[in-house]
Amino acid sequence: PSPCTTPWGSAAPAAPACSLAEVMSEQLAKQLDEENAVFPALSDPAAELLPDEAPDTTSDLMLAQMLQMQFDREFDDQLRREEKKFNGDSKVSISFENYRMVHPYDDSDSSGDEVDWQDTRHDPYRADKPQTTPRKGFTGKGKNITTKHDEVTCGRKNTARMDNFAPEVHVGDGLGMDLKLSNQVFNSLKRHCYSEQRRSARLHEKKEHSTAEQAVDPRTRLLMYKMVNAGVLENINGCISTGKESVVFHADGGSLEEQPVPDEVVLKVFKTTLNEFKNRDRYIKDDYRFKDRFSKLNPRKIIRLWAEKEMHNLGRMKKAEIPCPEVVLLKKHILVMSFIGKDHVPAPKLKDAMLNSEDLKNAYYQVLHVMQQLYQECNLVHADLSEYNMLWHEGKVWLIDVSQSVEPTHPHGLEFLFRDCRNVSTFFQKRGVSEAMSTYDLFNAVTGLNIPVGAEDEAEFMAEIVALEKRNEDHIQKRGKKTFPVTSEDGGPPLEPDADD
Ligand code: ADP
Ligand code: MG
Repeated sequence: PSPCTTPWGSAAPAAPACSLAEVMSEQLAKQLDEENAVFPALSDPAAELLPDEAPDTTSDLMLAQMLQMQFDREFDDQLRREEKKFNGDSKVSISFENYRMVHPYDDSDSSGDEVDWQDTRHDPYRADKPQTTPRKGFTGKGKNITTKHDEVTCGRKNTARMDNFAPEVHVGDGLGMDLKLSNQVFNSLKRHCYSEQRRSARLHEKKEHSTAEQAVDPRTRLLMYKMVNAGVLENINGCISTGKESVVFHADGGSLEEQPVPDEVVLKVFKTTLNEFKNRDRYIKDDYRFKDRFSKLNPRKIIRLWAEKEMHNLGRMKKAEIPCPEVVLLKKHILVMSFIGKDHVPAPKLKDAMLNSEDLKNAYYQVLHVMQQLYQECNLVHADLSEYNMLWHEGKVWLIDVSQSVEPTHPHGLEFLFRDCRNVSTFFQKRGVSEAMSTYDLFNAVTGLNIPVGAEDEAEFMAEIVALEKRNEDHIQKRGKKTFPVTSEDGGPPLEPDADD
């Protein structure tokens, strides 16, 4: 490209021509200077808001907000035109003010002394004494001429304008004691107030972001915004949980390929910081479904495997009609699924649910049944089953958090199952469910195995489990069972083909 073209097209148009006489006019220069000094750069909203920070255009949201702001401003202009047309010459006029979008910052036509309309709207001094200086800039005649720059008038006006400072600023009763504030003092007060407001806004923003968006990196945020842009989600509301390995957000569902998405969904964002996943490698690299792919992948892609694994496991569970979230969409390391809960309130974890003894007993039998279904129908072991990963919703126990779930033939699958059984037995026994079986009996009931329970001796029981696992593995090796494409087996929504990043 030629040197004067920019990525946005050719060079900016030349500034509007003006006569040499105007350029040379000292009078004009001084006047302009004065006007600018009263309220610096009021005509530029961005400059007014953030004089010391360039506007941030790095994210889609920011761009969208900027476009929205532009749109709102145009809307307001249109409204103003309509208001004018509506009122015509009528003595009684109707104000459309409350319908305006852009509020305090729209003052593109304000000049030095014509304050922004936030000021004019509630100017008590003006309301009492409607002796505004007319457009020509002065009142009176001859010696008694009062210009708009008159010190006394201006001073009183400035005092009155302090009422428009943020409500937390205590301005006192300046009007009552006829205080006259010079432009200089007024301006520095105003600047101070604005910077205070900005500071508190920034603090606020930080607080909000720290609970929600700050939990994810910019890449992830972009992916999330893209889902909103594509209409899959209507809105992303806030964070339900931040764990070591994932962050869960609540969102309003939109539609996906003309299919409605559930009204309420969650986004489970698998954390792309790898540390926490390192010690979970064994859940995936020994899972023959993922084994071959695992060894070829870079760490970022391994994180995506976790999301993918959760999707496939949920798919199997849905088929067996186990109460669990329904998968909506998988995009890289973000899994969108139905929300278990109502009206933005997530269902409580079993550990937090207030259950009476009847409900508890009921819940126990549900868990037993679900564990059997999971093992026998889905060919899965949850591998992180506890009162933390079961939700109580509409009288049912819902299973969640199955990214680490494996098939029973996983080299450590039965050990994981044993641990699940221990968590479940311990929880229900502690809560006083007398029907709750021992860990060993539960294990046998889930697997249909009949490992003898020797005097509550865990070591013996474990030895038996490990021996079983070994035999399983030998068997698999003899048959030469290889990885196979999980997509065709498990169904579920198609994976997003994505370019390598
Ligand atoms: P982690 O691996 O971080 O434990 P989970 O899948 O267990 O991830 O989700 C963390 C928390 O988020 C859960 O304890 C639960 O409170 C909430 N949560 C997760 N999925 C859902 C869902 N589909 N509906 C409602 N709440 C959910
Ligand atoms: Mg969990």
